[in-house]
Amino acid sequence: MHATNALAEADRIMTVCNSCRYCEGLCAVFPAMEMRRTFPDGDLDYLANLCHGCGACYYDCQFSPPHEFNVDAPRTLAEVRAQSYARYAWPAAFSSLFARNGCAISIAAAIGILLFLAGFGLLESDSFLTAHTGAGAFYALMPHAAMVFVFGLAFLYALASLGAGLAKFWRASGGVGRTFATLRFLLQAARDAGRLRYLDGGGAGCVNENERPGDRRALFHHFTFYGFLLCFAATCVATLYHYVLGREAPYAWYSLPVLLGTAGGLGLLIGPAGLFAAKLHRDPALREPESRSMDLAFIAMLFLTGASGLALLLFRATAAMGPLLAIHLGIVLALFLTMPYGKFVHGIYRFAALVHYARERVQSKETALS
Ligand code: SF4
Ligand code: SF4
Repeated sequence: MHATNALAEADRIMTVCNSCRYCEGLCAVFPAMEMRRTFPDGDLDYLANLCHGCGACYYDCQFSPPHEFNVDAPRTLAEVRAQSYARYAWPAAFSSLFARNGCAISIAAAIGILLFLAGFGLLESDSFLTAHTGAGAFYALMPHAAMVFVFGLAFLYALASLGAGLAKFWRASGGVGRTFATLRFLLQAARDAGRLRYLDGGGAGCVNENERPGDRRALFHHFTFYGFLLCFAATCVATLYHYVLGREAPYAWYSLPVLLGTAGGLGLLIGPAGLFAAKLHRDPALREPESRSMDLAFIAMLFLTGASGLALLLFRATAAMGPLLAIHLGIVLALFLTMPYGKFVHGIYRFAALVHYARERVQSKETALS
């Protein structure tokens, strides 16, 4: 017995695939599947999160619809994957946010922006619509200590919630605790994740809207992923500037935090825009309609984070700085708080699945040699 119909369908498909094995060179899912004879729910969650949704196995499959076997691995694994995000959410009471994700994220962003606009407008009415320049200009509207407190708390909450969800996923999918402390598995997973190794459909590329494979989805995913990392790096470097060098923001355009933030912001414009276009054209046979609003809401939040950050950089010396700072901070706060209950978790669970797979692959080679 499985917990949901999607898990039961994934079990059926994996059982068919395990007899066929035609797709074993396409990605990590099929070799991991071949290491199993049965598919309990936790293993199916692991396989679903290992799947990158490249679509290759759907187009290559002789049993895909309209064949009576009705094998649609990408769509079924996408459904199981989306359900796994809610199943392992922490606290569990918030798991329903995944089902109403677009709505929840829009409300969080709107409240965040309104709170900062109202806070700046009411508490700093004299300086809200005034141009500020020079070191410490942002802190005329919100003291640095208050920013650190609010965003530090939100960040720590996101970390704790994501960590608790990851621990539940890891236990359920049969992960061994010490695997995460083994450098070779972590490095292998980081290499595979960093170049999206399993989005390449076995070398030909990802298929999205038709049978012609390509690299566009991978490219836009790279822009998004590395854009996010560069923005995070910019924040870390700015923190060092503040506390170690005693230099207050805003920094010159040629300073390291601004260069990193600008590159990251551009990545967050180009990547999400490209992923949005790819989603609109995706073959319905590969789509899991239930999670569409979650996917689009996450893409929109990343795009708005990049756009509001770059707008703040461009107009920070003008009277628009106050409203732009409020909008940017409101969006970033909403992003942090909703991270554990939206598409962001796919990066965490997929990385964990890749670590697990790195270990399984080594173990299976060692068993074959012994
Ligand atoms: S997806 Fe189809 S072709 Fe590929 S292993 Fe499964 S049954 Fe075989
Ligand atoms: S969609 Fe791509 S990554 Fe997912 S199982 Fe099929 S071939 Fe593997």
